[in-house]
Formats: sequence, structure tokens, C-alpha cells
Amino acid sequence: MLSPAALDEEYRKALAAVGLELFIEQWPEIPLRWNRRLRRAGRAVIDHRGARFQAAVIEISPVYFEVYPEDLSGILVHEAVHVGLAVQGRPFGHGAEFRRACEAAGGLLHSRWLPGRVFRYRCPTCGLVLERRRRAADSRWCAACVEVAEAAGEDGYAAGRALQLVETAFQGPEPSGAATQPVCENGVEGGESATPMRYPVQP
Ligand SMILES: [Zn+2]
Ligand SMILES: [Zn+2]
Repeated sequence: MLSPAALDEEYRKALAAVGLELFIEQWPEIPLRWNRRLRRAGRAVIDHRGARFQAAVIEISPVYFEVYPEDLSGILVHEAVHVGLAVQGRPFGHGAEFRRACEAAGGLLHSRWLPGRVFRYRCPTCGLVLERRRRAADSRWCAACVEVAEAAGEDGYAAGRALQLVETAFQGPEPSGAATQPVCENGVEGGESATPMRYPVQP
């Protein structure tokens, strides 16, 4: 994972690039935070009263950037454009001006699927590796080895025979990793509900 200093540096660069495009000389304080629960690469949480900007926070997904660290600056620029337009009291969804400024500042208009997490378990007896989408709440055993042990009159469910968690990997549903997903949910034109407080589930 990126060091806090390196992240800060990327973020400063993104704000500077977007500031140049949108003519923002002095940004208000816009905190940047990791958010484990995000279902997309990032989002801009914008608080506003009508067209009047109040405050904003940019959140990014540690799961996404663990797998696609090269997308970081492009996503930071993307979220910063949402915030920059909001700061100026302009519509800040994924409209024409958003897309223009985002591309001009080097931002990404699309992201990749958020990778899913896979848990790999290994049977200590036969070496079989099993993949699970969820972490098992308690011990599991390899069916074949339980059968062999029981046939030999041994305890098939002995603790020493239980599957062992050997690896936690990220594995997206889209192996090509192509950038086809909306980067975030800040896309509602007209500006309303650009503060998504729910976590949309991917199709
Ligand atoms: Zn086994
Ligand atoms: Zn967006």
C-alpha cells in the first residue's frame, strides 16, 4: 500500500491539475480518506445547500488501489473535478463540463470492476487448495480426506486435519481488467443526490 506521504503527494498534484483546468487558485480544505466499504474506486461526498458549496470529502477504496495502484492519480483527478465544480457552484455530476475538465486534467472517466476477495484454503493432508468467496467462520475439512480417515477408523474431523487459510487474494469478476465501470456514483445530473450515502451494488 502507498505510504501516507506518497498518497498526499499524488493528491496535491491532482488538486493542482484540476485547479488549473477550473481556475481554482485556493482550494478549501478537502480531506482525503480511505474507505473500505466503497463499492467503487472512489467518491466525492459533497455537502451543499442548493448551489452553495459547504464542505466535501474525497474517499477512495483501498481494495481497488491494492490491485490497480496505477489508477490512483486518474481517480483522484476525477473526484477532485466533482469537488471543484461544486466549489464553484456549478453542476458537478458527470456532465459535459465534467468530462472536459476531467480529461484535460488527466483524470479517468471510467474505472475497472472492484476486485472481489478470495480466500484460499489448503488441506494439510492431501494439499488440495480450495477457494472461497467468504471467510469460513469455523473449521472446515476436505471431504475426501475425512472419508479416508474415517475408513481407517481415525477421527476425520481432528483439528490437525482442518483446512488452513493460506492466502487472501483479490480476484475481479472481469479478468481483462478493462476500464468500463463508472468511477463513482456522483453522476446524477442536476446536482441532487450527489452525496450518495448508500453503497450501490454492482450488477
Ligand atoms: Zn484433503
Ligand atoms: Zn464520478
